[in-house]
Amino acid sequence: MSNLLVNTRDQQFVLFEQLNMEKLFASKVFSGFSKDDVLMMQNEAEKMALNEILPTYAEGDKIGCELKDGKVHVPACFKAPYKKFVEGGWSCSMRSPDVGGQGIPILLATAYSELFDAANFAFMMYPGLTNGAAGLIEKFGTEEQKTKYMYKMYSGEWTGTMCLTEPNAGSDVGALRSSAKRLPDGTYSITGTKCFISCGDHDLTDNIIHPVLARIEGDPPGTEGISIFIVPKYRVKDDGSLGEFNDVKTGNVEHKMGIKGSATCTLNFGDEGKCIGELLGKERQGMRIMFNMMNEARLEVGMQSLAHASAAYEHAVQYAKERIQSTPVWEMKNPDAKAVAILQHPDIRRKLLLMKAYVEGIRALNYFAAFCMDMERVVEKAEDKEKWQGFVELLTPICKAYSSDTAVKVCSMAIDVYGGYGYCSEYPVEQYLRDCRIAPIYEGTNGIQSLDLVGRKLAQRKGMNTMNMFGEINATIANAKQIDDLKKSAVYLEEANNAVIDLTLHFAQLGKSAAFLLPILNAAPYLEIFGDVIMGHFLLQAAAVAEEKLQAIYAAKGAEESKGKQRGLVHKDADVAFYTGKVSVAKFFAVNVLLTVKARCEAIKVGDKTPIEIADESFAS
Ligand SMILES: Cc1cc2nc3c(=O)[nH]c(=O)nc-3n(C[C@H](O)[C@H](O)[C@H](O)COP(=O)(O)OP(=O)(O)OC[C@H]3O[C@@H](n4cnc5c(N)ncnc54)[C@H](O)[C@@H]3O)c2cc1C
Repeated sequence: MSNLLVNTRDQQFVLFEQLNMEKLFASKVFSGFSKDDVLMMQNEAEKMALNEILPTYAEGDKIGCELKDGKVHVPACFKAPYKKFVEGGWSCSMRSPDVGGQGIPILLATAYSELFDAANFAFMMYPGLTNGAAGLIEKFGTEEQKTKYMYKMYSGEWTGTMCLTEPNAGSDVGALRSSAKRLPDGTYSITGTKCFISCGDHDLTDNIIHPVLARIEGDPPGTEGISIFIVPKYRVKDDGSLGEFNDVKTGNVEHKMGIKGSATCTLNFGDEGKCIGELLGKERQGMRIMFNMMNEARLEVGMQSLAHASAAYEHAVQYAKERIQSTPVWEMKNPDAKAVAILQHPDIRRKLLLMKAYVEGIRALNYFAAFCMDMERVVEKAEDKEKWQGFVELLTPICKAYSSDTAVKVCSMAIDVYGGYGYCSEYPVEQYLRDCRIAPIYEGTNGIQSLDLVGRKLAQRKGMNTMNMFGEINATIANAKQIDDLKKSAVYLEEANNAVIDLTLHFAQLGKSAAFLLPILNAAPYLEIFGDVIMGHFLLQAAAVAEEKLQAIYAAKGAEESKGKQRGLVHKDADVAFYTGKVSVAKFFAVNVLLTVKARCEAIKVGDKTPIEIADESFAS
């Protein structure tokens, strides 16, 4: 029975059958874990998601956050689940037991975060940001700072934020104006305004710890001159108890399209000259340090996107099975024909199959990124560590941007499946689209992600990371070519992959010529095309695994020679239905998406510069 949020069978497939997660348990780092542990935690996470978090979804959206007498109040329904969530140890389970975590693989934490995020991402932002902010203190803080702040953040007693954006410094963080003045005791006086700060103020916990980017007076302009400070809402005394208010005032809480339960705040630091910050790390290392949290957060946005797409898809499938409307097209001339469930209409089936492809593809992509982070810890040789870390570097902008753009499409298609009802708040899919719509924007817009991919990531380590990814894709192609049913799809993936390799080399050559603007202009379509090929790779890799499983089942049931018997089994055997679905989705994606890749690459190579050449005045109506 579907939980209407996440297909837990598919989660298990990706973890164990596609990525072979058990490889991790053979290492010293994760030797204490087994498949049974993973299944048990997945089961517990599903219960937590369904019983505690999901009931806050619609209510949190309806009530939203309110600024009253200078304080932000979150939806009251968040309070009890938040307590249960942190008491259950869910908030920092992938961190080391030394700091209060359970040291579980990031891949496992990723899998169960999908369930939580699908249940209510606005709620999950509070523990999510806290985990990231505490991680910065763990990595760059002094022992004193860890004792003072980190443990209480990991335990969920206090929460954290990330404070980068200012009214005049959004995508261009280097333009920030917040400033820090050295004080005789080694602390800093902080002044400035940060806007759009998620979970910036709330009444879930007694204290909030803000990592704040600011420029120390006299330091150079741009990102090189930025430092990072730990700024608590309430100062913390030496014995760990709360001291006086630290002059961090909430100027506003935004009224937004979605994730309404997450308080998006304008924070004014030091209006009265009484805001004290502690330097985190060294002076002028702020951006380098904050990037650690930003990269984690970008992957988290990938997971938010997957979770919303997954929940929207699961709901759409269920609705399509129940909603009776219109007679089938092949009964057009039969006046006695009866209306059928909309799942029977070709256009609905096509939509659902594309949604399924995107959901399963971005699940494999995001889980693979998490798996790479675990593998980087598990392998011993420096070159192996570089390889796994290289995948994470390359895939981070793709996980963030491709997953979020795709998720918005999936949520929008879910509304189409519901028809007019999908547009109404009585059904949950319109909220999925509203909540998901922020994902392409924050944590660096998708436009900025694509520039990061094309301008920086492709060439990292002399292009080795990119070559390794193409190598993975080629291995999938070679394997699938050995399987009769997948040969054609493998050829389509090969053609698409070759076209992307060719375009990548073309970009590399242009980098040295006057036409260097072309890759910048086409960074977003390039990311989408590369993302499509990576989807094709993961879907085909999954289909090859599924084919092997299917052949084993057919052999066990005496159906290896009979297509008729095999088709019959789809309706009787859940595994056959599942694995057949994997094969179908890969083939569908190969024909309908991968076959368009070469043409899209050729279109970019034409070198059209119209968007640059068109006069500003011509944009006006
Ligand atoms: C709900 C919500 C929560 C948020 N949470 C946080 C948070 O917790 N902490 C935090 O610090 N910030 C947060 N933000 C801010 C968010 O990260 C920024 O909104 C985002 O980075 C974009 O900045 P901006 O809004 O100023 O847009 P701008 O930077 O003005 O960009 C506008 C458009 O121009 C494009 N653009 C800008 N520069 C370039 C360029 N060089 N090349 C190509 N295109 C460009 C952008 O891609 C975008 O499409 C949040 C925002 C929202 C709405």
